[in-house]
Amino acid sequence: KKAKQSKNAMAYYQQDDDKVQYRELLIINSLPKALLEGQLHLVYQAKLDLHTGNCQQVEALIRWQHPSLGKLSPAEFIPLVEYAGMIELISFWVLDKVLAQQAAWQAQGMQVKVAVNLSTTDIDNPQLAEEISAKLKHYQVPAANLMIEMTESVLMADLERTISCLEALRKIGVKLAIDDFGTGHSSLAYLRFLPVDEVKIDKAFLEDFDSDNRSKQLIKSSIELAKNLGFEVTVEGVESKTVLEQLKSFGVDTIQGDYYAKPLEPEAFQTQFITLNQQLSH
Ligand code: C2E
Ligand code: MG
Ligand code: MG
Ligand code: MG
Repeated sequence: KKAKQSKNAMAYYQQDDDKVQYRELLIINSLPKALLEGQLHLVYQAKLDLHTGNCQQVEALIRWQHPSLGKLSPAEFIPLVEYAGMIELISFWVLDKVLAQQAAWQAQGMQVKVAVNLSTTDIDNPQLAEEISAKLKHYQVPAANLMIEMTESVLMADLERTISCLEALRKIGVKLAIDDFGTGHSSLAYLRFLPVDEVKIDKAFLEDFDSDNRSKQLIKSSIELAKNLGFEVTVEGVESKTVLEQLKSFGVDTIQGDYYAKPLEPEAFQTQFITLNQQLSH
């Protein structure tokens, strides 16, 4: 009976596995068409400057409305697209979309710094800095208004190559951030080698923030260290005023999170941006 059970379990898992593989293949195979047909779009999440109360920065986040699978999360499809070696398609699409949007906002007198997420394999491209520089010129967006976020775990895999890539990007004038800090296996000590402007502390750090004093101390000292090393510090995933106030007292420069602003469609973000900055001047 036992053998039969485990055989059934095997069959079950096999079937489950096939389903997963089918979904993954479907996602990867439908990417080129999705790009052509406009199934992908960007939403914008405002960041709050805790020193000034101002909003001057925003992160662009990708969304995919799939014809048969519905709304897909980037947390699901980005790793698949990376694995399939097709992330460049997305990265350059995002850069074009963001820079065109920024040019349109600029034309309306709206100055906003936009952060984009780039991926593992983007930094393998030796032409990356050159291509971004050409795009900035094409859209006439100042380089300093573009921030590039890269995930920590990616950066630490090959430190030497990472540093030369980041240095090339820095030379063209774009701003750089380490994303999801604290989730990789690197220690804070590695930070000092990286030529970046900002460290974004991962929202996982906030999980036990309210209940556990040690978690709070951990985030507090990470913030202090990052600041002492000369980085701007952002904390993402801030969902309450209590947490916001605590982070402010720890010296955090900017926060991002649903408490302040949720990711919004470009038009809604534009309205929000104007309102947030107007409130301040009154
Ligand atoms: P990320 O770059 O760390 O982006 C922050 C994520 O946290 C976003 O998830 C955002 O919606 C979410 N978030 C913001 N505030 C809160 C909050 O208060 N509470 C909670 N629970 N979540 C919050 P999202 O949009 O689902 O994106 C997930 C990840 O997918 C991103 O993490 C990024 O690594 C990746 N991603 C998103 N867009 C792109 C893109 O255009 N290109 C690449 N390569 N990756 C992207
Ligand atoms: Mg990010
Ligand atoms: Mg990220
Ligand atoms: Mg992050």
